[in-house]
Amino acid sequence: MAKFKNNIKCSFCGRDKSEALILIAGIDAHICEICVEQAHSIINDEVEAHGPNNPIKKTTNIRHNYKPIDIKNFLDQYVIGQEEAKRFLSVAVYNHYKRLGQNMKDDIEIEKSNIMFVGETGTGKTLLAKTIAKFLEVPFAIVDATVFTEAGYVGEDVESMLTRLLQACDYNVELAEKGIVYIDEIDKIARKGDNPSITRDVSGEGVQQGMLKMLEGTDVNVPPQGGRKHPEQKMIKVDTKNILFICGGAFDGVDKIISRRMNTQVIGYSNGDKIELKKENVLKYVTHKDLKSFGLIPELLGRVPVLTYLEPLDKETLINILVAPKNALVKQYTKLFDLEGIKLIFTEEALEFIAEKALEYKLGARGLRSICEAILTDAMYTLPSDKNVKEFVVTKDLAEGNLSKTNLNKLYVA
Ligand code: ADP
Repeated sequence: MAKFKNNIKCSFCGRDKSEALILIAGIDAHICEICVEQAHSIINDEVEAHGPNNPIKKTTNIRHNYKPIDIKNFLDQYVIGQEEAKRFLSVAVYNHYKRLGQNMKDDIEIEKSNIMFVGETGTGKTLLAKTIAKFLEVPFAIVDATVFTEAGYVGEDVESMLTRLLQACDYNVELAEKGIVYIDEIDKIARKGDNPSITRDVSGEGVQQGMLKMLEGTDVNVPPQGGRKHPEQKMIKVDTKNILFICGGAFDGVDKIISRRMNTQVIGYSNGDKIELKKENVLKYVTHKDLKSFGLIPELLGRVPVLTYLEPLDKETLINILVAPKNALVKQYTKLFDLEGIKLIFTEEALEFIAEKALEYKLGARGLRSICEAILTDAMYTLPSDKNVKEFVVTKDLAEGNLSKTNLNKLYVA
């Protein structure tokens, strides 16, 4: 057989068959065991150097085969409640990636389904965006709308939103062009005017204008290090056609706009009877028109067609958030204690107490972590040096006592 002829050499290093332990045959080439090992270590180094978004991984590993229900099931593992937002997000993402696979010669061009989340702080807007990026295994960047200003002002150019995305995938443009950008605090760039709650922004409308083309899809020249663009700086061209933008904001005061609109509508039909709308559930009626009244410009709203809301978190949901998600706080602390050989137990009352405090501090689920830290820091400080402790129970009394020793009450937003 030809492949066992004596003059066979490794096609990579040229080593003769007699010098190699093994020569593996390919279609038209051979490789020796030393070259296999070298190649293996090169791959390992690359994987380590580039992390999860490694360009060596498939560059278009978007999970095409998953249906909206599968996407929602994935979100359920990490995000508690927020059923409506999860359904909207699942459908929007599904359609977005279906659009990516669309035949470009089609007459009907499916538009991008950028998404807007309206909901109080700490209700899971960022978590939803982050989780969907994790599901899709695409690069993800969180940017804060308040740091951007219209050209000519002090602040960052809107293009630098894409810098964060490029950084998230080690400047692999092809990967970035399929990524997700979460624009937080979009409500803070509402234009002044109708909106009573905006006080600090001076150039919000300019920033909104600056974002239009990018949201829709265009070639953007991105400054590699972010900040302001300089003429002498070498830019990286990024096409945003397939980048999904998810915007989020608390839109403080939008509930009043919604109530006012709904009551005006009702008056037309019912002798002036006003419908009773509780602040808790009024957000579910939010429309693009309400966000326009709030101060977002129609051109921007037109480019963010999917609009959904997040509900405020009640006590029961907060308790669930403590224990249920895949990486729930209680699971994390239990693991930490477990590594010390200590069994950590939270009583029902302690969990309720923590949830009540988080409600009081009005920080949504974001408050849970600081409260747990305040309660457990003492134990995490002393117990690793105490070999006799095998179990640690967090009761309501212990939680209350430890919390009162801290100055966490400063978190309280009146
Ligand atoms: P937002 O962006 O709405 O201000 P985040 O998504 O940043 O809030 O939430 C802050 C933290 O609170 C998250 O890291 C997460 O741990 C927790 N959290 C908030 N809402 C939820 C939820 N619905 N389910 C699970 N965890 C949540």
